[in-house]
Amino acid sequence: MAKQSELSVELIACSSFHPPADIAWQRPAEATDAEALIEFAGRACYETFHKPNPRTATNAAYLRHILEVGHTALFEHATATVYIRGLSRSATHELMRHRHFSFSQLSQRFVHTEEAEVVVPDLIAQDPELRQIFLHAVDDVRFVYEDLLQGLEERMSDEPNALLRKKQARQAARAILPNATESRVVVSGNFRAWRHFIGMRASEHADLEIRQLALECLSLLKQQAPVVFDDFEVSKLADGTWMATSPYVTD
Ligand SMILES: Cc1cc2nc3c(=O)[nH]c(=O)nc-3n(C[C@H](O)[C@H](O)[C@H](O)COP(=O)(O)OP(=O)(O)OC[C@H]3O[C@@H](n4cnc5c(N)ncnc54)[C@H](O)[C@@H]3O)c2cc1C
Repeated sequence: MAKQSELSVELIACSSFHPPADIAWQRPAEATDAEALIEFAGRACYETFHKPNPRTATNAAYLRHILEVGHTALFEHATATVYIRGLSRSATHELMRHRHFSFSQLSQRFVHTEEAEVVVPDLIAQDPELRQIFLHAVDDVRFVYEDLLQGLEERMSDEPNALLRKKQARQAARAILPNATESRVVVSGNFRAWRHFIGMRASEHADLEIRQLALECLSLLKQQAPVVFDDFEVSKLADGTWMATSPYVTD
């Protein structure tokens, strides 16, 4: 029977910061590298390294001020990369609509998984009968997929390059695979893009699967830059699922 995949999101890279030694700026001790980098970039605009405004002298106050005045281009200096597994092809398609991210996704043409791995939508997974129907349908599709692969490879038996033969067979046969097929993807983005993604996709209006992904990303990014993502408020909806919103992400 098809295997049910679970979402896994790991932070695999985040900006590090090395302030120039000759700038008379006291790096805020409490700030993370990403947060200090954003403050440095902001202060570089007006050379306010000496912190003339006492109201924005701390890193947290400085970053909150950036949010309030909408100077969020500064957030583009800090970046983070996550490795996502257990996400359906339909959710990766939604994810890839976010044009400021960079992606590297598992190839269905090169990588042949021995067994079908799928993401079962929560609503279906919660009902044993519906879950059975779903997984049986996936198994049926898998049989067809394997039959197609075999037939295609036979059709192309004149092709001496085995890798090319397999690639061509997989790229045709995969057309039958379901939206639920598990995928893996490395995603890099700057903090402005991450904030926009979370604002759009952690919303109650977003599909539950990508919402869960956005909430996981928010949690990871909060560890890297608590103040930058501090404005997102996480709350529970009447149906028991979670969402997050920020008054600063409106579009
Ligand atoms: C609840 C929900 C339902 C959705 N339903 C559908 C649907 O039915 N059909 C569908 O096709 N899509 C749908 N989408 C996807 C949606 O239309 C966007 O493609 C997706 O959310 C990416 O967001 P974005 O375009 O704001 O920006 P991103 O690509 O993440 O870019 C961020 C911001 O950069 C700016 N930007 C980026 N590119 C440009 C550009 N070329 N020109 C000007 N400004 C730019 C914009 O300000 C944009 O908001 C849905 C999204 C959500 C959250």
